[in-house]
Amino acid sequence: MGDVHKVIENCSECVALLGDYLEGSLPAERAAALEKHLSLCMPCITFVRTYKKTTVIAREVLAAEMPPVLVSSLQQFLKGQIPGFKCDGKSDCSGDAAEKAKLAKTKPDPKS
Ligand SMILES: [Zn+2]
Repeated sequence: MGDVHKVIENCSECVALLGDYLEGSLPAERAAALEKHLSLCMPCITFVRTYKKTTVIAREVLAAEMPPVLVSSLQQFLKGQIPGFKCDGKSDCSGDAAEKAKLAKTKPDPKS
């Protein structure tokens, strides 16, 4: 009985917890169990990757309305929360945002 909350028995439970996990509202014990499951269960690893893609798509849809700084911090948050989360290379979700800002300065600035 005692260990029941430390083990995630099935993938649907894992998926159900993922939202809370990403929000950081999952108790540490459950988060650890989720991470353990995610490190062992290939279907769930695949799901997390799909989930990541979903967030990228959502990001693209929202990009017009979300300030880039918020998008970037969201990506940073996800990178911290999901083991193995990686940028797709097209996103400026890592520290290279400053690099891109430099590159942007080489373009003609319509405001100047
Ligand atoms: Zn699983």
